[in-house]
Amino acid sequence: MSLIPPSPPDSDVYKTLLESTKAIPWRIDWQTMTFSYIGPQIEALLGWAPQSWVSVDDWVERMHPDDREYVVNFCVSQSRAGVDHEADYRALTVNGDYVWIRDVVHVVRQGDEVEALIGFMFDISERKKTEEHLIRLQKQLEEYSFQDGLTGIANRRMFDTVLEREWASAQRSQLPLSLIILDIDFFKQYNDHYGHIKGDEALRQVARTLSLAANRPRDFIARIGGEEFVWLLPETDAASARQVARRCLHLICQQQIEHGFSAVSKLLTLSLGVGTHIVTPNSNMLAFVESVDKLLYQAKRNGRMRAEFAEHEV
Ligand code: GH3
Ligand code: MG
Ligand code: MG
Repeated sequence: MSLIPPSPPDSDVYKTLLESTKAIPWRIDWQTMTFSYIGPQIEALLGWAPQSWVSVDDWVERMHPDDREYVVNFCVSQSRAGVDHEADYRALTVNGDYVWIRDVVHVVRQGDEVEALIGFMFDISERKKTEEHLIRLQKQLEEYSFQDGLTGIANRRMFDTVLEREWASAQRSQLPLSLIILDIDFFKQYNDHYGHIKGDEALRQVARTLSLAANRPRDFIARIGGEEFVWLLPETDAASARQVARRCLHLICQQQIEHGFSAVSKLLTLSLGVGTHIVTPNSNMLAFVESVDKLLYQAKRNGRMRAEFAEHEV
């Protein structure tokens, strides 16, 4: 049996294929920052004729002002680095409305030089509507729940409840209660450069990793803010809390999560405040939490990627 390879389609076939799909193809010449092609479907979607897409400025100007800075910075930095990428944003229509677009971009390179960007724009308005609805539902659910929707560990509400309980128990037992507050270093830069989806992934990985740092049955971990976590350690003295804090730093270091935009390391790092308290009738729970928070900010001021411990542990 002989196999005859099919002959390649000519460029007319490609053109017909490209221009009859729902996705809108385009090509930008990197040197001149101009459109060398955009599919005619763009006019049906946004109302702007293909001829009106001349330079990248036309693309930038027809983007929602709230999306502009983030999307343009992200696409430019990824393109410069030669990395294929995608971005969601709202594109302006001729009538002044906005349509959610997902732009999927391939970077064409000639050696080390970027030659062009080619991509497809997809209309994702329907998907966005469903997504926004789901996000609203999830927020509502979180308000009633004790679990952090992103990482699956306990949330701030749960922390407040457990802290009250352990504080009372520590007062009865007169055994030391330790608290570690942890905050990711330069996480704003991480999000700005790698995007929120990767940011969320990093938060999940950090939560998973930190969970391994302590393992007594009552040791309690929570995500209490954007990139802020706590370990509450009942019946734990300062020396043991110190060990847990060190283990947190060590485990995160071992994960080697790349962070090319941190000022202190090439990897993602944490700062920690660590405090220990024996509860008396005079002690104040919120003042204790605040004192540990102060230690965290001392760690930030002292250069980050470190833990600061209370000097006078009761
Ligand atoms: P520092 O080293 O001083 O802690 O600086 P920082 O950039 O980590 O701190 P800052 O408080 O300025 O920024 C925290 C950033 O964390 C802001 C936001 O971009 C990000 N962030 C907060 N919550 C979330 C989240 O749920 N998902 C993602 N992806 N990012 C989040
Ligand atoms: Mg931070
Ligand atoms: Mg923070």
